[in-house]
Amino acid sequence: MTAVTRAAVRREHILKEAVRQGLLDPDRSSLAGFVDLDGVAATVGALHEAFPGAPGLPDVTHTFAAKANCLVPVLRELEGHGMGCEVATAGELARALAAGFPADRIVFDSPAKSRAELERALALGVAVNADSFQELERIDGLLAGRAPASRIGVRLNCQVGGGAIAAMSTATHTSKFGVPLTDPGNRERLLRAFAERPWLTWVHTHTGSQGCPLDLMARGVAQAVDFADQVSAAFGRGRVEGIDIGGGLPVNFADDEVTPTFADYVGQLRAHAPRLFEGGYRIVTEFGRSLLAKNGFMAAYVEYTKSAGGRPIAVTHAGVQVATRTVFGPDAWPLRIEAHDRHGAAKRGRPVRQDVAGPACFAGDLLARDRALPPLEPGDLVVVPDTGAYYFSTPFHYNSLPEPAVHGVRAGADGRVEFTLLRPAQDPWQLTERDGVRAPSREPAGVPSGGAR
Ligand SMILES: *Cc1c(COP(=O)(O)O)cnc(C)c1O
Repeated sequence: MTAVTRAAVRREHILKEAVRQGLLDPDRSSLAGFVDLDGVAATVGALHEAFPGAPGLPDVTHTFAAKANCLVPVLRELEGHGMGCEVATAGELARALAAGFPADRIVFDSPAKSRAELERALALGVAVNADSFQELERIDGLLAGRAPASRIGVRLNCQVGGGAIAAMSTATHTSKFGVPLTDPGNRERLLRAFAERPWLTWVHTHTGSQGCPLDLMARGVAQAVDFADQVSAAFGRGRVEGIDIGGGLPVNFADDEVTPTFADYVGQLRAHAPRLFEGGYRIVTEFGRSLLAKNGFMAAYVEYTKSAGGRPIAVTHAGVQVATRTVFGPDAWPLRIEAHDRHGAAKRGRPVRQDVAGPACFAGDLLARDRALPPLEPGDLVVVPDTGAYYFSTPFHYNSLPEPAVHGVRAGADGRVEFTLLRPAQDPWQLTERDGVRAPSREPAGVPSGGAR
């Protein structure tokens, strides 16, 4: 039996209040996401504190990778904490602008930027990291000799290797991202790119996300710093203005401990890439998961329970639509599950091995398999911690399952919990409206009585 953590006590308190205030209801709202905005503020504070920046240069610019949680009110919150925003699509750019990020604190990364997207980014003055030599040539054409308002960099694939999850590893020898630095001739070709383009002034790298060990990420950054030093040696100090080191700090999904920390990562960067902090380079970061994951959870009602082949199964309202990665890649993306009663109180019964299933119509729609939990019963609530990034904020529309509501949470010192709506729940008719079919003005209500037929 693991000890009850402060984080678990806070989750339980928030859950009880959500039930009491009617945000969770077995008939009207059987699934919801929660983002702990106090927690987000504290995590951003830890990030700012961990990074010293280089002496004599502007502070480190920390951007948030919008794909990790793209809800505009969440982005607005981060903007309020002095962050920038990393975007990879026109949709994410629109959301960043809607959240109020100034253009010079937005970074546009994507391996597939269209001509129109690049044109827009350059017109806005959004920073751009080119992913390939072809993209640099496209930018040549768009600038047509003019000096850009945007900071422009080139993304390097430092080819330092992959981590535990292949799909999250962007610095393998054959990764689709960036210019592969160690492929024959590329270092020289990159140096020529800087020689020919006075507007090319930044170096970008992002070694990978969840599953990448810190020293691998730090070795990737070290290669980028080394390349920037080479450019400076060839064309003069200051030729590379700054280094965008990407994001990727992994998150601990096993328990409530926040590990590794931003400070741990800075320690590794100091060990592997000391010149990052003394080489006269401005620094940009792009963390996503590590800022939001542990500051969010979702909660869903158990609708039914059954037993199959001797295995107890709890059928809940949270499945593939809000836990896509976990459902399709259960070994790479295990999630914790906590059992609570209908009032939100943690259940303390003797654990029984059971499956926790979602509502979608395929057999693999499971949040957890063969998991030891207090016996779940219809009407209970399951809580899924660590889902503030890449889960309920990025819904999958399988089975026409609607997007659940997401609530922001702030807790006062007196224990009061205040909720703000970050995303309303989707109504089933909203799905048909996307197909161009309006909801009828009146749906038949209730169950028809036999006599009326
Ligand atoms: C996804 C991504 C990030 C954020 O990764 P996290 O693991 O969420 O920190 C940062 N930069 C780029 C280029 C990315 O693709």
